[in-house]
Amino acid sequence: MTQLKKVQHFINNEFVDSLSGGTFETLNPATNKPIARVADGQPEDIDRAVKAARQAFDEGPWRKMSAKDRAKALRRIGDLIEKYADEIADVEIDDTGVPARMIKKGAIPRAAYNFHYFAEMTHRIGGESFPVDDKFINYSIRRPVGVAGLITPWNVPFMLETWKVAPCLAFGNTCILKPAEWSPLSADFLAHIIQEADLPPGVFNVVHGFGETAGAPLVAHPGVQVISFTGETTTGMEIMRNGAATLKRFSMELGGKSPTIVFEDADLSRALDGAIYQVYSLNGERCTAGSRLLLQKSIHDEFLGRLAERVASIRVGDPHDMATEVGPLIHPEHWQKVRGYMDVAREEGATIMVGGDRPSNLPEGNYFSPTLITNVRNEMRIAQEEIFGPVLVVIPFEDEAEAIRIANDVRYGLAGYVWTRDLQKGHRVAQAIESGMVWINSHNVRDLRMPFGGSKYSGIGREGDHYSLELYTELQAIHVALGTHHIPQLGMKG
Ligand code: NAD
Repeated sequence: MTQLKKVQHFINNEFVDSLSGGTFETLNPATNKPIARVADGQPEDIDRAVKAARQAFDEGPWRKMSAKDRAKALRRIGDLIEKYADEIADVEIDDTGVPARMIKKGAIPRAAYNFHYFAEMTHRIGGESFPVDDKFINYSIRRPVGVAGLITPWNVPFMLETWKVAPCLAFGNTCILKPAEWSPLSADFLAHIIQEADLPPGVFNVVHGFGETAGAPLVAHPGVQVISFTGETTTGMEIMRNGAATLKRFSMELGGKSPTIVFEDADLSRALDGAIYQVYSLNGERCTAGSRLLLQKSIHDEFLGRLAERVASIRVGDPHDMATEVGPLIHPEHWQKVRGYMDVAREEGATIMVGGDRPSNLPEGNYFSPTLITNVRNEMRIAQEEIFGPVLVVIPFEDEAEAIRIANDVRYGLAGYVWTRDLQKGHRVAQAIESGMVWINSHNVRDLRMPFGGSKYSGIGREGDHYSLELYTELQAIHVALGTHHIPQLGMKG
């Protein structure tokens, strides 16, 4: 029997077991065989990590270090991610089932860039000053908030974790990362990298475990000031309730059910490429997936025909194979959830035009065929709920006004995609979509200077560039008298 890889917590620059000694297994989604035995964090492990992070924040060198030295440390992490890119990619693919072409070309280089980018931001922690009538100078400074709890999902874990860790550390905070229980391995790799990068003890900590037993105590811990959470909307709601008693600051990156709107005047070939990539890449397990396709009636039938042909040809298989376009879903439970929506679709009267089940040539693992559903009305559950798999629902619309109405008739508001050659219409529609982000004639290409986040039930707050600065720093106003201004005198005799 081969020995399972052992994954421990990382606390105070040391790899440690849970105090209880408890562990859980994590599975390879392509086989559903265990690949690692992972320390199962409990409240006492969280407490230990928070104490380490607290001490590092209060007494350690990190927050007081010059911006230049902190930037240097972050660049070392980014460089090490580049150095180990192939190994991290293999771990991530084994752990998540996301195809190599997306992990190797997209997620891992982006993770390194997150550190390189936010290394530069250490020099941008500034404030404002206001001279007041020659009598005062008032100014503001930004200080790190303290200890951050970073809670992440399983869909593209390494990229999302570095997206939180890099700014959090750049602005002088210390942190505890609680990765998703279904994909803990790349967070462990990050811990090894950060140990090699030689950060001061306690600055970066990882506690593995489940939401209820490791995530919840992190949220409720009085030693933690800020929670940056990415995950499902209902989990976000629960976290906000649990953090209320200790008045946590929150960033919430939640679910989505984003529209892709294709108008009759679009470059239809590019719109087709964009619509397909935007929902079937990353196995459809993508928060910004364009999972509702709104097609103008005049082009509906022709576009749908071309779409169906392409979706049926998407290559499903071994995620390590660079030719694979869709790999296995993360976990058998998630497979069941996605499969369950096929019954819902039939019950609601929709038509599964392509896919809808396991590909017949892949009897093992959590493979699910790229699926296209038609005869959909926007009020159906399959059009309103986040399926988080390779499933696209198609809804026809008559004109611009109807497209906007359907696009917004959903509780989520994360992203939107508009395809048209009429740029006035493109801007008009983009600005009418109720969402945090919209792309016009583009798939999801994102510059790190832009705010990332959602509106409505897709989130609260924005991250990226100075938006992350706002999240991870506390603003302090300092008022200074320059002369002897009048102070009203109370309690004077006579
Ligand atoms: P999830 O909400 O089930 O879990 C996310 C994390 O929260 C995990 O680490 C989990 O252990 C933890 N958690 C669960 N219950 C908790 C609790 N009570 N207290 C504290 N932590 C708790 O989400 P998931 O299934 O891992 O990820 C998929 C979801 O993430 C989808 O809804 C997707 O849209 C969303 N997502 C959003 C973004 C974004 O930026 N908006 C990005 C990626 C994924």
